[in-house]
Amino acid sequence: MCSIRGKFKKDFELKKDKLYYTDFITVGDSVGFEYNQDGSGVITKVKERKNHLSRKLPKVRGASYRGERLEQVIAANIDNVVILTSVHQPEFNNRVLDRFLVSVESSHLNAIIVLNKIDLDNSGTSEQWQKLYEDIGYKIILTSTKTGEGIESLRNEILKSKSLFWGQSGVGKSSLLNLIFPQLSFKIGEISKFSSKGTHTTVTSVLKKVEDNTFIIDTPGIREIDPYGIRKEDLCHYFIEFGKFINECKFNTCTHHHEPGCEVIKAVEKGLIIKQRYESYLRILDTIEDDINF
Ligand code: GDP
Ligand code: ZN
Repeated sequence: MCSIRGKFKKDFELKKDKLYYTDFITVGDSVGFEYNQDGSGVITKVKERKNHLSRKLPKVRGASYRGERLEQVIAANIDNVVILTSVHQPEFNNRVLDRFLVSVESSHLNAIIVLNKIDLDNSGTSEQWQKLYEDIGYKIILTSTKTGEGIESLRNEILKSKSLFWGQSGVGKSSLLNLIFPQLSFKIGEISKFSSKGTHTTVTSVLKKVEDNTFIIDTPGIREIDPYGIRKEDLCHYFIEFGKFINECKFNTCTHHHEPGCEVIKAVEKGLIIKQRYESYLRILDTIEDDINF
């Protein structure tokens, strides 16, 4: 167990509101430390991060924010972000997935989408979603912890790397991780008890070593990821299939919302951009407009 050298904290607090000092060391960081005489340690330096995933600090009831929403770093030095979803129970929600993908893209991370509980799919929905995301260029793996389908593929994707796992409660994160790494023995079917009260400075993710050179970062307290620091005019860059159209729009300030001569809107009409993705885009655009981000 390590504590943090006091000087460190002070230097950081000068730069940021001290409420948020926890962000300067986060899960996944490489640190230097020294031993104390009692065998405990003290962190003396933090290596520069290769990358990090963050979100807008969630609103906490009763807390005053003076208008701004700050960045909360969730983890650093991540090779894969595994976004877990399920076909049913809970019902697949592409808007939640797309919102997460925006965070992943804006942080330049590698996404792996998992669509779990395909044993519950009697109508071929999962294959349709699979095709849709594959056509965009994403890796998407269909799994079932009941039949074992897809488990080996997922395992192969994450071996010898550091993977962050995120999914809404109930999608089967614990079941999947237990199947891939039995030593983890997460409890199945337990809604994680997480209270937002008083925990807004705590990053509730945990890194676990599961095999040689293989690490997972579990995110039990992270219910939602609100993309941080994204401007309205930049959002389109994080919908990767919009890329080949955005420079062709009539106005270079186009937000692809209603503007005349918008090539993104034309591409949606022609079926070159999938409607559901465009709808996700509009929704997120809306939430950016409502926030004071900067
Ligand atoms: P978590 O909240 O994401 O960690 O989800 P759990 O692993 O605790 O699973 C929630 C519920 O979904 C449990 O009742 C599991 O048995 C069930 N479940 C998990 N994976 C599957 C699956 O592939 N198919 C079906 N039908 N049920 C699953
Ligand atoms: Zn446009």
